[in-house]
Amino acid sequence: MPMNVKPVSTLDNEINEIRLATAEIVNQEILPLEGRLWGWLSDSANAPNEVVAEGKALRRQIQEKVKEAGLWAPHLPREFGGMGLSFLQHAYMNEVLAYSPGAASLFGVVAPNSGNQKILVKYGTPEQHEKWLQPLTNGTMQSGFSMTEPDKPGSDPRSITTRAELDGDEWVINGHKWFTSNGYAADFYIVMCRTADADGSGAANDKMTQIIVPKDTPGVNIVRGVPVWGRSSSHCEIIYDNVRVPKENQLGRTGTGHQAAQDRLGAGRVYHCMNSIGSMWRAFDLMIERLMTREVHGGEKLESKQFMQGFIAESYMDIQSARLMTIDCAEKMESGADPRADISAIKIFVPAAYHRVVDRAIQVWGAAGVSGDLPLASMYQGARTLRLADGPDEVHKILIAKLVLRRYHAGEAWDFGN
Ligand SMILES: Cc1cc2nc3c(=O)[nH]c(=O)nc-3n(C[C@H](O)[C@H](O)[C@H](O)COP(=O)(O)OP(=O)(O)OC[C@H]3O[C@@H](n4cnc5c(N)ncnc54)[C@H](O)[C@@H]3O)c2cc1C
Repeated sequence: MPMNVKPVSTLDNEINEIRLATAEIVNQEILPLEGRLWGWLSDSANAPNEVVAEGKALRRQIQEKVKEAGLWAPHLPREFGGMGLSFLQHAYMNEVLAYSPGAASLFGVVAPNSGNQKILVKYGTPEQHEKWLQPLTNGTMQSGFSMTEPDKPGSDPRSITTRAELDGDEWVINGHKWFTSNGYAADFYIVMCRTADADGSGAANDKMTQIIVPKDTPGVNIVRGVPVWGRSSSHCEIIYDNVRVPKENQLGRTGTGHQAAQDRLGAGRVYHCMNSIGSMWRAFDLMIERLMTREVHGGEKLESKQFMQGFIAESYMDIQSARLMTIDCAEKMESGADPRADISAIKIFVPAAYHRVVDRAIQVWGAAGVSGDLPLASMYQGARTLRLADGPDEVHKILIAKLVLRRYHAGEAWDFGN
């Protein structure tokens, strides 16, 4: 079933045009080929070479069409080969392109490269742009973002112990990371390092620096790809053992690493939520399609059963509330208002709603719901993972409570209208 995207009367023409053009590519070029593009229909680990080669060739063809349509790299400014979209334009485009899982990569948005590209755009020098950003953008290099450590809570990034010390003109890095996504394919990692003592003077937020480390530097040891959801993965565990890189590989000023990570995550959370909404939208359409066609005891369609009608209403409410909360948050960010409570709220609410919507769609589809013939099983795992990645639920709840209480303690009640 194609995604039903029509112009939204409250949006400006440009956003509507971007959404319609994106939907055209998703509906006409991507959805009909999904099984062959990603090899869902077979066991991808054992897929024959010709199936893998066909998928690759089809993906390239679609990427060319995306470029011709002017929809390549929505996250990047024009001078770096992207669409140069505003924040809201990008957010609204994401809900459309995420209707088909994996489609983002066909539009030039591949995590973690996309987050690294944005950090390089903002913090990189012209030399770093040329050496690292351009190859990432034209696809000749891959990258990873190496922050989380097995021995420290990722939910408190200021606790990291990976250390970088200056020795002449070089940073010397020692530490132990894991869950560095894309770790095997990456040509370089952006590594979050402690560059000042945790208990030394100065603010806790100013003691981190992000440093570019080429993967082939002596002392970079990939221990393993950490298996995830029962399957091998490229989320790598890496030991940095006396790794030496030139001083000019640091991103931004010494001590700006924490701020750079916050920049990456803040807007990124809105984009991720709009992606989740596109995926929920798809799961909803798939659920309804099955409810309208599956005959059960006595030949009645599933749609006539009240349990199932409950699923429709609950998923409708989940999607509407998730979508409107996210758009409200995006509008606040665009207007310059303080969006912190809203960012945390959507980071908690949207993945949980996504999880519920996909869960119901799986239930309706029965065994097919957990099979590789549909995108639902991978969506389900993705939704569950999102409750941990980019800041787990509990940490965001703590932040919302802090922000609310701080305001009441200051003698002012919360204003839900602003
Ligand atoms: C598939 C996947 C890909 C990832 N990719 C990357 C990547 O590319 N690069 C990278 O650096 N990292 C990556 N990560 C790591 C991710 O960012 C971390 O898992 C996340 O930040 C949580 O950190 P943690 O796993 O150490 O959990 P912890 O911080 O140990 O948290 C465990 C639990 O404790 C709870 N908790 C923590 N503090 C409190 C508190 N004060 N009160 C109550 N509860 C609390 C948390 O909410 C959570 O539920 C990835 C993770 C996954 C699953």
